[in-house]
Amino acid sequence: MKILVTGGAGYIGSHMVRTLGEQGHEVVVYDNLSTGHRESVLYGRLVVGDTADTAALDHLFGAEGFDAVAHFAASIVVEESVREPLKYYRNNFCNAVNLISACLEHHVDKFIFSSTAAVYGIPSENPVTEKSALSPINPYGASKAMVEQALRDVSGVSSLRYVALRYFNVAGADALSRIGQKYKDATHLITLSLKTALGLRPQLSIFGTDYNTPDGTCIRDYIHVDDLIDAHVLALGHLASGGGSKVYNCGYGSGYSVKEVVGAVRRVTGIDFRAAETGRREGDPPALVADSALIKKELGWKPSRNDLDFIIRTAWEWEQKLQKC
Ligand code: UDP
Repeated sequence: MKILVTGGAGYIGSHMVRTLGEQGHEVVVYDNLSTGHRESVLYGRLVVGDTADTAALDHLFGAEGFDAVAHFAASIVVEESVREPLKYYRNNFCNAVNLISACLEHHVDKFIFSSTAAVYGIPSENPVTEKSALSPINPYGASKAMVEQALRDVSGVSSLRYVALRYFNVAGADALSRIGQKYKDATHLITLSLKTALGLRPQLSIFGTDYNTPDGTCIRDYIHVDDLIDAHVLALGHLASGGGSKVYNCGYGSGYSVKEVVGAVRRVTGIDFRAAETGRREGDPPALVADSALIKKELGWKPSRNDLDFIIRTAWEWEQKLQKC
Protein backbone atom coordinates (compact mmCIF):
# COMPACT_ATOMS: atom_id res chain seq x y z
CA MET A 1 0.00 0.00 0.00
CA LYS A 2 0.98 3.62 -0.37
CA ILE A 3 0.45 5.18 3.03
CA LEU A 4 0.55 8.77 4.24
CA VAL A 5 1.87 9.00 7.80
CA THR A 6 1.30 12.42 9.34
CA GLY A 7 3.60 13.07 12.27
CA GLY A 8 5.87 10.32 10.95
CA ALA A 9 8.96 12.16 12.20
CA GLY A 10 7.63 12.06 15.77
CA TYR A 11 7.96 9.45 18.50
CA ILE A 12 5.16 6.98 17.72
CA GLY A 13 4.80 7.92 14.04
CA SER A 14 8.46 7.17 13.35
CA HIS A 15 8.03 3.65 14.76
CA MET A 16 5.05 3.17 12.42
CA VAL A 17 7.12 4.39 9.45
CA ARG A 18 9.92 1.99 10.36
CA THR A 19 7.56 -0.99 10.51
CA LEU A 20 5.67 -0.07 7.33
CA GLY A 21 9.00 0.40 5.54
CA GLU A 22 10.28 -2.95 6.79
CA GLN A 23 7.09 -4.57 5.49
CA GLY A 24 7.62 -3.11 2.02
CA HIS A 25 4.89 -0.48 1.99
CA GLU A 26 5.49 2.84 0.27
CA VAL A 27 5.50 5.55 2.91
CA VAL A 28 5.15 9.31 2.60
CA VAL A 29 5.69 11.21 5.86
CA TYR A 30 4.01 14.58 6.30
CA ASP A 31 5.40 16.42 9.31
CA ASN A 32 6.00 20.08 10.18
CA LEU A 33 9.04 19.09 12.30
CA SER A 34 7.71 21.17 15.22
CA THR A 35 8.52 18.29 17.57
CA GLY A 36 9.62 15.63 15.07
CA HIS A 37 13.07 15.04 13.62
CA ARG A 38 14.15 14.49 10.04
CA GLU A 39 16.60 11.77 11.09
CA SER A 40 13.81 9.76 12.76
CA VAL A 41 12.30 8.99 9.35
CA LEU A 42 13.98 5.68 8.55
CA TYR A 43 11.96 4.82 5.44
CA GLY A 44 10.05 6.58 2.69
CA ARG A 45 9.96 10.24 1.77
CA LEU A 46 9.54 13.16 4.13
CA VAL A 47 7.40 16.07 3.00
CA VAL A 48 7.75 18.98 5.42
CA GLY A 49 4.35 20.58 5.80
CA ASP A 50 1.55 21.42 8.16
CA THR A 51 -1.88 19.84 8.39
CA ALA A 52 -3.24 23.39 8.81
CA ASP A 53 -2.26 24.05 5.19
CA THR A 54 -5.25 22.81 3.21
CA ALA A 55 -3.76 23.84 -0.16
CA ALA A 56 -0.61 21.81 0.56
CA LEU A 57 -2.72 18.82 1.61
CA ASP A 58 -4.80 19.08 -1.56
CA HIS A 59 -1.63 19.18 -3.66
CA LEU A 60 -0.06 16.26 -1.79
CA PHE A 61 -3.14 14.05 -2.05
CA GLY A 62 -3.60 14.95 -5.72
CA ALA A 63 0.01 14.16 -6.56
CA GLU A 64 0.42 10.94 -4.57
CA GLY A 65 -2.73 8.83 -4.69
CA PHE A 66 -2.66 7.31 -1.19
CA ASP A 67 -4.32 4.04 -0.26
CA ALA A 68 -4.51 4.91 3.42
CA VAL A 69 -3.70 7.62 5.96
CA ALA A 70 -2.28 7.09 9.44
CA HIS A 71 -2.73 10.33 11.37
CA PHE A 72 -0.24 10.76 14.21
CA ALA A 73 0.49 14.50 13.96
CA ALA A 74 -0.85 16.17 17.11
CA SER A 75 -0.05 18.16 20.22
CA ILE A 76 0.11 15.84 23.21
CA VAL A 77 0.94 17.65 26.44
CA VAL A 78 -2.01 17.58 28.83
CA GLU A 79 -0.81 20.46 31.02
CA GLU A 80 -0.16 22.66 27.99
CA SER A 81 -3.64 21.86 26.69
CA VAL A 82 -5.10 23.24 29.91
CA ARG A 83 -3.07 26.46 29.50
CA GLU A 84 -3.51 26.81 25.72
CA PRO A 85 -6.76 25.07 24.79
CA LEU A 86 -7.09 26.67 21.37
CA LYS A 87 -3.71 25.29 20.30
CA TYR A 88 -5.17 21.82 20.91
CA TYR A 89 -8.52 22.47 19.25
CA ARG A 90 -6.67 23.85 16.21
CA ASN A 91 -3.83 21.33 15.92
CA ASN A 92 -5.73 18.26 16.94
CA PHE A 93 -9.29 18.91 15.86
CA CYS A 94 -9.30 21.48 13.03
CA ASN A 95 -6.25 19.97 11.34
CA ALA A 96 -7.69 16.45 11.56
CA VAL A 97 -10.81 17.81 9.87
CA ASN A 98 -8.56 19.19 7.11
CA LEU A 99 -7.04 15.76 6.65
CA ILE A 100 -10.36 13.91 6.68
CA SER A 101 -11.65 16.42 4.16
CA ALA A 102 -8.65 15.75 1.87
CA CYS A 103 -9.37 12.02 2.17
CA LEU A 104 -12.96 12.55 1.03
CA GLU A 105 -11.92 14.87 -1.79
CA HIS A 106 -9.31 12.43 -3.08
CA HIS A 107 -11.17 9.16 -2.41
CA VAL A 108 -8.88 7.80 0.29
CA ASP A 109 -11.14 5.49 2.26
CA LYS A 110 -8.87 4.08 4.99
CA PHE A 111 -7.91 6.18 8.02
CA ILE A 112 -6.02 5.21 11.17
CA PHE A 113 -6.37 7.70 14.00
CA SER A 114 -4.18 8.13 17.08
CA SER A 115 -6.67 8.61 19.87
CA THR A 116 -6.03 8.47 23.58
CA ALA A 117 -7.22 7.12 26.90
CA ALA A 118 -7.62 10.78 27.87
CA VAL A 119 -11.02 10.68 26.09
CA TYR A 120 -12.36 8.81 29.15
CA GLY A 121 -11.46 11.49 31.68
CA ILE A 122 -11.88 9.95 35.12
CA PRO A 123 -13.43 6.58 34.29
CA SER A 124 -16.05 5.15 36.66
CA GLU A 125 -14.22 1.82 36.63
CA ASN A 126 -10.83 0.39 35.72
CA PRO A 127 -9.92 -1.40 33.50
CA VAL A 128 -11.91 0.83 31.19
CA THR A 129 -13.67 -0.61 28.11
CA GLU A 130 -14.48 1.16 24.86
CA LYS A 131 -18.12 1.29 26.01
CA SER A 132 -17.28 3.61 28.91
CA ALA A 133 -18.60 7.14 28.61
CA LEU A 134 -16.32 9.70 26.99
CA SER A 135 -15.84 12.49 29.46
CA PRO A 136 -12.46 14.15 28.93
CA ILE A 137 -11.18 16.41 31.70
CA ASN A 138 -8.69 18.39 29.66
CA PRO A 139 -8.62 20.02 26.19
CA TYR A 140 -6.15 17.40 24.94
CA GLY A 141 -8.61 14.56 25.58
CA ALA A 142 -11.53 16.69 24.38
CA SER A 143 -9.81 17.52 21.09
CA LYS A 144 -9.19 13.81 20.41
CA ALA A 145 -12.76 12.86 21.36
CA MET A 146 -14.01 15.49 18.91
CA VAL A 147 -11.99 13.91 16.09
CA GLU A 148 -13.45 10.52 16.94
CA GLN A 149 -16.92 12.07 16.71
CA ALA A 150 -16.10 13.68 13.36
CA LEU A 151 -14.82 10.34 12.03
CA ARG A 152 -17.97 8.59 13.23
CA ASP A 153 -20.21 11.16 11.54
CA VAL A 154 -18.24 11.30 8.29
CA SER A 155 -17.93 7.52 7.97
CA GLY A 156 -21.71 7.28 8.33
CA VAL A 157 -22.28 9.29 5.15
CA SER A 158 -19.23 8.43 3.02
CA SER A 159 -17.03 5.50 2.02
CA LEU A 160 -14.41 6.48 4.62
CA ARG A 161 -13.66 3.74 7.15
CA TYR A 162 -11.44 4.32 10.15
CA VAL A 163 -9.85 2.67 13.14
CA ALA A 164 -9.32 4.92 16.15
CA LEU A 165 -6.81 3.50 18.62
CA ARG A 166 -7.03 4.84 22.14
CA TYR A 167 -3.47 4.79 23.39
CA PHE A 168 -2.76 4.35 27.06
CA ASN A 169 0.75 5.36 28.25
CA VAL A 170 3.14 4.69 25.41
CA ALA A 171 6.80 4.23 26.31
CA GLY A 172 9.93 2.39 25.26
CA ALA A 173 11.89 2.56 22.03
CA ASP A 174 13.00 0.68 18.95
CA ALA A 175 14.87 -2.54 19.82
CA LEU A 176 17.94 -1.30 17.90
CA SER A 177 17.75 2.19 19.47
CA ARG A 178 17.46 3.81 16.05
CA ILE A 179 14.46 5.88 17.12
CA GLY A 180 12.75 6.79 20.37
CA GLN A 181 11.24 9.69 22.29
CA LYS A 182 13.12 12.89 21.56
CA TYR A 183 11.11 15.89 22.70
CA LYS A 184 12.85 19.13 23.53
CA ASP A 185 10.57 19.57 26.53
CA ALA A 186 9.82 16.03 27.65
CA THR A 187 6.95 15.66 30.10
CA HIS A 188 6.39 11.91 30.35
CA LEU A 189 7.16 10.05 33.53
CA ILE A 190 9.50 7.34 32.23
CA THR A 191 11.47 9.73 30.03
CA LEU A 192 11.87 12.30 32.81
CA SER A 193 12.87 9.60 35.29
CA LEU A 194 15.57 8.37 32.91
CA LYS A 195 16.84 11.89 32.28
CA THR A 196 17.03 12.37 36.04
CA ALA A 197 18.95 9.09 36.36
CA LEU A 198 21.37 10.40 33.73
CA GLY A 199 21.93 13.51 35.83
CA LEU A 200 20.33 15.84 33.28
CA ARG A 201 17.78 16.99 35.87
CA PRO A 202 18.35 17.48 39.60
CA GLN A 203 15.25 15.52 40.63
CA LEU A 204 12.00 14.01 39.47
CA SER A 205 8.76 15.46 40.80
CA ILE A 206 6.10 12.99 41.86
CA PHE A 207 2.91 14.86 41.05
CA GLY A 208 0.51 14.17 43.89
CA THR A 209 0.57 11.56 46.64
CA ASP A 210 -3.00 12.06 47.87
CA TYR A 211 -4.93 10.25 45.15
CA ASN A 212 -7.35 7.49 46.07
CA THR A 213 -4.93 4.74 44.99
CA PRO A 214 -2.99 2.19 47.10
CA ASP A 215 0.16 4.36 47.41
CA GLY A 216 -1.53 7.71 46.75
CA THR A 217 0.12 8.25 43.34
CA CYS A 218 -1.54 8.00 39.93
CA ILE A 219 -1.84 4.67 38.16
CA ARG A 220 -1.26 4.24 34.43
CA ASP A 221 -1.08 1.38 31.93
CA TYR A 222 2.35 1.61 30.24
CA ILE A 223 2.51 -0.01 26.79
CA HIS A 224 5.60 -0.59 24.67
CA VAL A 225 5.54 1.49 21.49
CA ASP A 226 6.17 -1.56 19.30
CA ASP A 227 3.13 -3.43 20.66
CA LEU A 228 1.14 -0.30 19.82
CA ILE A 229 2.58 -0.31 16.31
CA ASP A 230 1.57 -3.97 15.91
CA ALA A 231 -1.98 -2.83 16.70
CA HIS A 232 -1.76 -0.19 13.96
CA VAL A 233 -0.57 -2.74 11.41
CA LEU A 234 -3.48 -5.02 12.29
CA ALA A 235 -5.87 -2.07 12.02
CA LEU A 236 -4.52 -1.24 8.58
CA GLY A 237 -4.92 -4.87 7.50
CA HIS A 238 -8.48 -4.83 8.81
CA LEU A 239 -9.37 -1.78 6.71
CA ALA A 240 -7.47 -3.10 3.67
CA SER A 241 -9.52 -6.28 3.73
CA GLY A 242 -12.75 -4.28 3.75
CA GLY A 243 -13.37 -4.17 7.51
CA GLY A 244 -15.66 -1.53 8.99
CA SER A 245 -14.91 1.38 11.32
CA LYS A 246 -13.71 0.46 14.80
CA VAL A 247 -12.52 2.02 18.05
CA TYR A 248 -10.10 0.07 20.23
CA ASN A 249 -8.24 0.54 23.49
CA CYS A 250 -4.52 -0.23 23.37
CA GLY A 251 -2.98 -1.10 26.72
CA TYR A 252 -1.95 -4.16 28.71
CA GLY A 253 -4.63 -4.11 31.39
CA SER A 254 -2.12 -3.76 34.22
CA GLY A 255 -1.48 -0.49 35.99
CA TYR A 256 1.60 0.86 37.77
CA SER A 257 1.70 3.77 40.17
CA VAL A 258 4.13 6.65 39.73
CA LYS A 259 6.09 5.35 42.73
CA GLU A 260 6.24 1.87 41.19
CA VAL A 261 7.55 3.30 37.93
CA VAL A 262 10.18 5.32 39.77
CA GLY A 263 11.22 2.13 41.59
CA ALA A 264 11.42 0.22 38.30
CA VAL A 265 13.54 2.95 36.68
CA ARG A 266 15.91 2.86 39.67
CA ARG A 267 16.09 -0.94 39.39
CA VAL A 268 16.73 -1.01 35.62
CA THR A 269 19.27 1.81 35.59
CA GLY A 270 20.89 0.90 38.90
CA ILE A 271 20.81 4.61 39.75
CA ASP A 272 19.11 5.83 42.90
CA PHE A 273 18.05 9.23 41.51
CA ARG A 274 16.21 11.77 43.60
CA ALA A 275 12.40 11.93 43.47
CA ALA A 276 10.52 14.64 45.39
CA GLU A 277 6.85 14.47 46.27
CA THR A 278 5.11 17.62 45.05
CA GLY A 279 1.54 18.77 44.44
CA ARG A 280 -0.84 17.39 41.85
CA ARG A 281 -0.48 18.27 38.18
CA GLU A 282 -3.63 19.76 36.68
CA GLY A 283 -5.66 17.52 34.38
CA ASP A 284 -4.44 14.15 35.71
CA PRO A 285 -7.00 11.36 36.30
CA PRO A 286 -6.10 9.15 39.31
CA ALA A 287 -6.09 5.87 37.38
CA LEU A 288 -6.31 4.77 33.75
CA VAL A 289 -5.97 1.10 32.88
CA ALA A 290 -7.08 -0.43 29.57
CA ASP A 291 -9.41 -3.29 28.92
CA SER A 292 -8.08 -4.32 25.49
CA ALA A 293 -10.11 -7.50 25.10
CA LEU A 294 -11.87 -6.14 22.03
CA ILE A 295 -8.82 -5.59 19.81
CA LYS A 296 -7.40 -8.95 20.92
CA LYS A 297 -10.64 -10.68 19.97
CA GLU A 298 -11.46 -8.83 16.75
CA LEU A 299 -8.02 -8.15 15.26
CA GLY A 300 -6.01 -10.87 17.00
CA TRP A 301 -3.68 -8.38 18.69
CA LYS A 302 -1.10 -10.25 20.78
CA PRO A 303 1.10 -7.84 22.69
CA SER A 304 4.46 -9.47 23.41
CA ARG A 305 6.33 -6.79 25.39
CA ASN A 306 4.16 -6.57 28.50
CA ASP A 307 7.04 -6.11 30.93
CA LEU A 308 7.65 -2.76 32.62
CA ASP A 309 11.38 -3.43 33.08
CA PHE A 310 11.75 -4.31 29.38
CA ILE A 311 9.91 -1.13 28.37
CA ILE A 312 12.15 0.94 30.61
CA ARG A 313 15.29 -0.87 29.42
CA THR A 314 14.60 -0.01 25.75
CA ALA A 315 13.90 3.61 26.72
CA TRP A 316 17.08 3.66 28.85
CA GLU A 317 19.22 2.41 25.96
CA TRP A 318 17.72 5.10 23.77
CA GLU A 319 18.28 7.87 26.34
CA GLN A 320 21.90 6.82 26.75
CA LYS A 321 22.36 6.85 22.98
CA LEU A 322 20.86 10.35 22.80
CA GLN A 323 23.54 11.59 25.16
CA LYS A 324 26.29 10.34 22.86
CA CYS A 325 24.84 12.03 19.75
N1 UDP B 1 4.20 12.24 36.47
C1 UDP B 1 4.95 12.60 37.57
N2 UDP B 1 6.09 13.31 37.38
C2 UDP B 1 6.53 13.69 36.14
C3 UDP B 1 5.76 13.31 35.02
C4 UDP B 1 4.60 12.59 35.21
O1 UDP B 1 4.60 12.30 38.71
O2 UDP B 1 7.57 14.36 36.07
C5 UDP B 1 2.97 11.48 36.65
C6 UDP B 1 1.73 12.16 36.08
O3 UDP B 1 1.16 13.04 37.04
C7 UDP B 1 0.84 10.96 35.77
C8 UDP B 1 1.82 9.86 35.42
O4 UDP B 1 3.09 10.28 35.94
O5 UDP B 1 0.15 10.57 36.92
C9 UDP B 1 1.97 9.66 33.93
O6 UDP B 1 2.19 10.93 33.34
P1 UDP B 1 2.71 11.10 31.86
O7 UDP B 1 2.92 12.57 31.62
O8 UDP B 1 3.86 10.19 31.63
O9 UDP B 1 1.51 10.55 30.97
P2 UDP B 1 -0.07 10.93 30.95
O10 UDP B 1 -0.73 9.87 31.78
O11 UDP B 1 -0.24 12.31 31.47
O12 UDP B 1 -0.42 10.80 29.51
